[in-house]
Amino acid sequence: MSIASVEPSWAISDFLLKSGGYAVVDGGLATELERHGADLNDPLWSAKCLISSPHLIRRVHLDYLEAGASIIISASYQATIQGFEAKGLSRDEAEVLLRRSVEVACEARDMYYETCTKGSWDDPKNEVNLGQRPILVAASVGSYGAYLADGSEYSGDYGKSVTLEILKDFHRRRVQVLADSGADLIAFETIPNKLEAKAYAELLEEEDIKIPAWFSFNSKDGINAPSGDSISQCASIADSCGHVAAVGINCTPPRYIHGLIQSIKKVTNKPIVVYPNSGETYDGIQKKWVKSAGVEDEDFVSYVGEWLEAGASLIGGCCRTTPNTIRALSRTLLSKSALSK
Ligand SMILES: [Zn+2]
Repeated sequence: MSIASVEPSWAISDFLLKSGGYAVVDGGLATELERHGADLNDPLWSAKCLISSPHLIRRVHLDYLEAGASIIISASYQATIQGFEAKGLSRDEAEVLLRRSVEVACEARDMYYETCTKGSWDDPKNEVNLGQRPILVAASVGSYGAYLADGSEYSGDYGKSVTLEILKDFHRRRVQVLADSGADLIAFETIPNKLEAKAYAELLEEEDIKIPAWFSFNSKDGINAPSGDSISQCASIADSCGHVAAVGINCTPPRYIHGLIQSIKKVTNKPIVVYPNSGETYDGIQKKWVKSAGVEDEDFVSYVGEWLEAGASLIGGCCRTTPNTIRALSRTLLSKSALSK
């Protein structure tokens, strides 16, 4: 299905109407790629797989669709033209890889629909036929900090020399390419400060991007973005941009999500998207996830009721969540929507 015929700001609300009021977003990509044998020890992280093993990325997208996700996010979070060029690729090759990230996700969607049509997807645990649901492919845009690969998307501190114009110029070509890649929307993820949100909003206007976007921020304290800018200030920027169709939070521990949804709700009527991490914390210096208060899949889904009640309508998982998390989430949402009918 296409959501391109609808006004960008209304596109996700329209999709939600057709999906029964809520939608399941997919889960962590990098963790799953590693589980399938990919080596991601590289500044390009999951984007490295676009070069070495796109079939693994397609496999993981498919796993999430089979688990019940209705929105799958491309492997372009850390894929940037500048990053690929630093690896010795030409600009053209870099742009091909960016488009490839979306194509791989679209291929997974086609394969999934085909399998559902044939009826050969036989999961005895799947009580409901999910094969007819609309599925969207979101092109991921990671923050400038994700490109730096120094953990600054978790500190929000880009230093004084990084201005609004620098951020706009950094992201401009990637956003243009992804907007024409066949994706249904652009997911701006793990935004750590309001400066970058402002850069994205201006860029979408200046380039007159035709597909809708969502802005997803992160938080380390449940009140502010990592930079110290309040989540309400950040969400207000998203609210005032006509290209933004949903606003939310990702890569943040589940325990903070409820309060953050409430803060966002105060400043926007746009749909709210949340895809928390498993609750573990990322150590930007050691470049690894530190096991602390990580939550099990059952604990993760135990939060879902309060997130829905607070006003979230798009729910998934970020780092360290798996197809099992998303399957549990999908079942919980199905049972809740069945109860409300
Ligand atoms: Zn994450």
